[in-house]
Amino acid sequence: LRFSVTILGSGSAIPTLRRNPSAQYINIQERHFLMDCAEGTQLQMRRYEVPLQQLNAVFISHLHGDHYLGLMGLLSTMHLLGRRLPLQLYGPPELKEVIDFQLHVGRTTLGFPLNFIPLIKDETQDLYSDKMVEVKSFPLKHRIPCWGFRFNEKPFKRKIIKEKVIRHKIPVAWMKRLIDGEDYISEDGKLIANKALTEDPKRSRSYAYCSDTAYDESIIPNIRAVDLLYHEATFAEVLIKRAHQTFHSTAKEAASIALQAGATKLVVGHYSARYRNPDEIVNEARQVFSNTVAAEDGLIFNL
Ligand SMILES: [Zn+2]
Repeated sequence: LRFSVTILGSGSAIPTLRRNPSAQYINIQERHFLMDCAEGTQLQMRRYEVPLQQLNAVFISHLHGDHYLGLMGLLSTMHLLGRRLPLQLYGPPELKEVIDFQLHVGRTTLGFPLNFIPLIKDETQDLYSDKMVEVKSFPLKHRIPCWGFRFNEKPFKRKIIKEKVIRHKIPVAWMKRLIDGEDYISEDGKLIANKALTEDPKRSRSYAYCSDTAYDESIIPNIRAVDLLYHEATFAEVLIKRAHQTFHSTAKEAASIALQAGATKLVVGHYSARYRNPDEIVNEARQVFSNTVAAEDGLIFNL
């Protein structure tokens, strides 16, 4: 079962020929999510073969241009290509006005339902949930309201051991109760422990996205023990003052958050355009949290 994160933009602020600003494509068991949508994101989606018309939901972290200026273009392309599939859109409340105004002046009515769900300031929210996947949001600390997101697989069921249930002649009606963890009790009162009939389930995986944010320990409970954490690291340590002024993080700060949260792996990104390559950023982060990798456009993480 797939759980992958594709970096579509690893830079900040201004698009360059080397890096696009923020966007990521997240595929969890064939649910297709877009996290942020900077200018140029739809071209990045084509370049890295993201199924644009199959997107189920778009999440926008905040309304700085490098996180959402590509959204209107993406919606327009979906419309022009004849999309009918509904699209869920989660973002700051003002995003609805921005979209409605652009549709209004262009006298466009989208050919598909766009279901907008506003993020609530200073609150954690359960945004999306189905049988196998859930997405939650939580507040970050930035110059304007901004949210982080956590993507979780729900717990998997236990696995039936076929030979065992055949040998013990367990009735079919019991299979659902066995995968839910119940012990088997036969009609004449004989008990067989669940562990003798089933295997432990597959481990559930999780991913968290934190961009943009100043160093903020209050987010730690929301990202605890994630398998993969994306945390912005706009600056190296020498520019810590600049980071604090602009409500961004340094590489070491991002790494400290990953360490305290007990994340398995950290991806840093959202680099200031002054860094020609992210070596300085990633090396500083590794001094605090060794399992750190640098985001690059097109890089795919398979969990
Ligand atoms: Zn920002």
